[in-house]
Amino acid sequence: MKLRRVGVSLYLVALILMGCGVPATPRTTSSPVPTMAPTPTPDPLAQALALAERVSADRLMADVRWLADDARRGRLTGSPEEDEVGQWLVQRFQELGLGIFASAGLEGYYLPFEAPAATRYGRAGEGELASGENIVAILPGTTQPDLYVYVGAHYDHLGVGPDGQVFNGADDDATGVAAVLEAARVLSRSGLRPEETVVFVAFSGEEIGLLGSGALCERLTALGLTDRSMLLNMEVLGAEKGAGTYLDVWDEEAAATGPMVEALQWAGDQLGIPIKQGGRDPGSDAVRLTACGVPAVSIDVAWSLENHPHYHRPSDDPQHIDVDGFRGAVQVAIAALWLLANDGNQAAELRSPYLGDALFWRVGPTCV
Ligand SMILES: [Zn+2]
Repeated sequence: MKLRRVGVSLYLVALILMGCGVPATPRTTSSPVPTMAPTPTPDPLAQALALAERVSADRLMADVRWLADDARRGRLTGSPEEDEVGQWLVQRFQELGLGIFASAGLEGYYLPFEAPAATRYGRAGEGELASGENIVAILPGTTQPDLYVYVGAHYDHLGVGPDGQVFNGADDDATGVAAVLEAARVLSRSGLRPEETVVFVAFSGEEIGLLGSGALCERLTALGLTDRSMLLNMEVLGAEKGAGTYLDVWDEEAAATGPMVEALQWAGDQLGIPIKQGGRDPGSDAVRLTACGVPAVSIDVAWSLENHPHYHRPSDDPQHIDVDGFRGAVQVAIAALWLLANDGNQAAELRSPYLGDALFWRVGPTCV
């Protein structure tokens, strides 16, 4: 993963050395032949921030409300209501014209797996198996389509409690799924195309043991794709109103995830959203991907049980969500995602020992 590890830093260092902008084209007063206007050099930093500006709080919350409606019955893995959510996600990806992740052996948007039949809140039933399905779609890369940057969240939740109370899971993790959809919308409608392939993933089976991310791990391992992949996972982006709007970066393996953390930090700095690095992941799909060798981080908004008092309770409903904090988190995620998918793919041997990660921070507002 060395190549991936240094990619963002080197790219940004290169931008610094270039003066962080497009070199001025000398003007000439007369031109012997008509010429096409010069094609501007792409500037991923500026593009990242422009994409972040397109994030809509209204769209995000509309999706959260649909996912966390009582009619979804808490989206328990293998339930008919969870299947309905899966079909809805497929339809959304189709409408955006996203592709099938064929290089992972998929023939459609589904990555199915077997799961214990989850028959009641918080417990997997014994014996009988049910099906779970991750929903996966791609925006193909232009120059490095065989490198993959995943952006993911889990769409399953806890179902219905023993007394009939629905665990709507608005914060956990309808917010993350809405963020994946917003990333898909913003990127696919921007007219821009990433260098590397962006993979949008809605995981199933998270609440009953990280099963969907386990299935993805197995698939990537079997196909030798783990060292071409990295995951930006999103969990509980809807802190209680007034709880604070900083972003935690749960980083399991700092050495391998350095570029991801750097990209998130840069985006947070640019967008005025504080980033708190290095928290230990309490157990998200990112942990499962890390365990099979895929660099992965989870982001969340101001994690603590005090700031997320409805966590894993029937009261986890949309009206509690701090919308500004939610939108800010999605902005940071999309900006970072764009940098990671356009990191220049510099070869590791090009890295100068004098150009450390510290130079990253010199990319300031003057450069965008
Ligand atoms: Zn969760």
